[in-house]
Amino acid sequence: MTATATERHVVIVGASLAGTRTAQGLRAQGHTGPITLIGAETELPYDRPPLSKHLLKGDWSESSVDAVRLIDPAELDALAIELLLGSAAVELDPTARFVRLADGTSVSYDVLVIATGAVARPSPWQPSSGVYQLRTLADSRAIAARLALGEPVVVVGGGFIGTEIAAAARGFGCAVTVVDPVPEPMARLVGPEIASSLVDLHLRNGAQTRFGVGVVGIEGEAGRLIVELDDGERLAASTAVVGIGSVPCTEWLAGSGLKLDNGVVTDGFLRAVGVDDVFAVGDVARWPHPGRGFHIRAEHWTNAGDQARYVAIAITQGAQAAYESTDYVWSDQYDWKVNAVGWRDPEGSSVVIGDLEADGRTAVVHADANGAACGAVTVNWVRALNQARQLFAAGSTAETVVEAIRGMA
Ligand SMILES: Cc1cc2nc3c(=O)[nH]c(=O)nc-3n(C[C@H](O)[C@H](O)[C@H](O)COP(=O)(O)OP(=O)(O)OC[C@H]3O[C@@H](n4cnc5c(N)ncnc54)[C@H](O)[C@@H]3O)c2cc1C
Repeated sequence: MTATATERHVVIVGASLAGTRTAQGLRAQGHTGPITLIGAETELPYDRPPLSKHLLKGDWSESSVDAVRLIDPAELDALAIELLLGSAAVELDPTARFVRLADGTSVSYDVLVIATGAVARPSPWQPSSGVYQLRTLADSRAIAARLALGEPVVVVGGGFIGTEIAAAARGFGCAVTVVDPVPEPMARLVGPEIASSLVDLHLRNGAQTRFGVGVVGIEGEAGRLIVELDDGERLAASTAVVGIGSVPCTEWLAGSGLKLDNGVVTDGFLRAVGVDDVFAVGDVARWPHPGRGFHIRAEHWTNAGDQARYVAIAITQGAQAAYESTDYVWSDQYDWKVNAVGWRDPEGSSVVIGDLEADGRTAVVHADANGAACGAVTVNWVRALNQARQLFAAGSTAETVVEAIRGMA
């Protein structure tokens, strides 16, 4: 007898945010069939944003670590989710429908969800010690211990994670220098309108920057590193943290027939292209974004959870419409709360509301080349961001969004 949709064996590879939320979502949608959640890490699933925020500031109390867990043994039991930890998937055979694990065993599936996320792009500079990268709980714990020494730190990469690490290091009183080959790296995060204010925030808090300058080498060892820049400057540091982006975890899928191109390429319903009953969710998925008109891979917390819920519904009930992203991301920089929704169209225009220096808050609303509202960034103004999100969802014009936020000022 054939299993109905909700009785099928769903195997999820990748036991972090997207994978765990898919498993929980399946049960919430009434899935009664077996669910197997396979994770390469040995830790119970945990959340990553706190790794560069409160945990990195040194709050390693048991309750603080417990709070970042995405699921606990009692819930796994109650939901009858089989969790295989320390079990990296090494091969997929989509014809015979099984996943092979590193220990040589195989797990068969009716439906497969790929949620293997991403890893930090490896540091090209590997002295014997002293260079760190941040992706896992263990990474965060190790970096926090280094920062607690209060010794000089060089952060390579001025993205959200790099700048959060710099802020945490300043909290420990470390001398910090952030290096990035891009002249205005903060503009990638918040747009050119408020990028310089964000740089000023870091400078005001005592961090130094070397922007528009690349790293050519890191030598020495923990406690006495030399970071050499391409303008000849040599920065002495006790610790270097390299945050230069991430790469999707797809090596295990090589030869499977799945379309791999900077992630697992899917259709608009998050179904892996070229195979049946295989979905991809979270940081590893590269899907056609309806608003932007091309494939994107988002490395954002909200997207991973939203895609997990969408796929849980698609598996149990069938998908009614293509996946639509809320395109929401946030970052904490010192005491500033940066929030962004949607995107910025390089051919479009932007309107700034409020004066960040004078009022301590601001919003920037983006319109695309046709004048349609497509994104917003706020600093210390979550209400404005929420207003923008609601108006975007209602299909409002950029003028309407601007007027509404001006009305709140
Ligand atoms: C330090 C840090 C701070 C962040 N802060 C923010 C923030 O402030 N705001 C925001 O929006 N986003 C933030 N993010 C991004 C957010 O955490 C990610 O978008 C989210 O974790 C994606 O979840 P995921 O499950 O798709 O992938 P991941 O979290 O990468 O998890 C994938 C899991 O799959 C496992 N895996 C990989 N390969 C295999 C395999 N072959 N077999 C089995 N398991 C495998 C991995 O070990 C991992 O546990 C942050 C990320 C980091 C690292």
